[in-house]
Amino acid sequence: MILNDMLDSIREAKKIIVVTHVSPDGDGIGCVTALYKALNKLNKDVSIFIDDDVPEIYKFMPYTEKITRPFDESADLLIAVDCADTERMGNAKNLLRKVSKSINIDHHISNTLYATMNYVDTNAASSSEIVYQLIKILGIDLDKEIAECLYVGVVTDTGHFMYGSTTSFTHEVAGDLINNGASVDKISNTIFHKIKYSKLKLIGRVINNMELYFNGKIAYMEISNEDFTKTNTKAEDVENIINYGRDIDSVEVAVMLVEKEDFVKGSLRSKNYVDVNKLAREFGGGGHVRASGFLKKGTIKEIKEKILELIKIELNE
Ligand code: 5GP
Ligand code: MN
Repeated sequence: MILNDMLDSIREAKKIIVVTHVSPDGDGIGCVTALYKALNKLNKDVSIFIDDDVPEIYKFMPYTEKITRPFDESADLLIAVDCADTERMGNAKNLLRKVSKSINIDHHISNTLYATMNYVDTNAASSSEIVYQLIKILGIDLDKEIAECLYVGVVTDTGHFMYGSTTSFTHEVAGDLINNGASVDKISNTIFHKIKYSKLKLIGRVINNMELYFNGKIAYMEISNEDFTKTNTKAEDVENIINYGRDIDSVEVAVMLVEKEDFVKGSLRSKNYVDVNKLAREFGGGGHVRASGFLKKGTIKEIKEKILELIKIELNE
């Protein structure tokens, strides 16, 4: 029923706002840009908003130049994609209050079902997989641009098809996107095999300062403002660095704490059994069972102490 309501609302709407989360990733950006093109094909007036900068590595994607910060605007319909809760939207949450109809398309287990229509599939490996299905059901033809945007979402959220969330359907979607013009090598080379020297220096510092706890089951990493200034990097350069900790053979949980003004941005990853969504919720965040995050007021020192304590309990150490 929700699906029918969603389809009707999209068909009826003239002006549509599409938003995704702050600290945008390939999935969020892939969804908003693919929807921009797809909904334009239905002759909709579409705005795409993200209350943050688009990271440099994603600027090669079609329609990223159309993304702007949310401003006071009304529409018949707001579609939020890959956004677990309204806090993650930044200022776009004010627009949600203004529209009479809203759609929440997501795959996070922590989703708070904040829209008038909520389509949350926690079995989907990416929100791009869900948007792919929606575009198909709406009868919109895929094209090279839509395929490229969604393919970026599919490959980034599955860690290049390597996370446990990857299904045979994920591969079917990827196959169809490739058949419609997504360039596998262009996208892989741009996102996964291209790195700024400054980011490599940042990785070097983080790995040098990494600490292991509880018989090597926890890999702890942190990035201070000083690390950013000394290496000439910024917050967006942190993406995926946590995987160096998670990949260590003895590690079950990897933690990364990043200084962000009065706040700390936390990232958590687990390998086999620890529910890091549950841990992130203790700090007001959320995400998935094996990958989660939070933004919490406080110092790195305070949050480090608390998080190590909580993980210790989860590990039964
Ligand atoms: P990352 O550590 O790469 O920033 O995020 C990992 C996962 O946790 C993603 O699925 C992301 O959506 C989720 N996540 C990251 N930060 C937050 C946050 O502040 N709040 C919530 N609810 N989820 C987050
Ligand atoms: Mn996602």
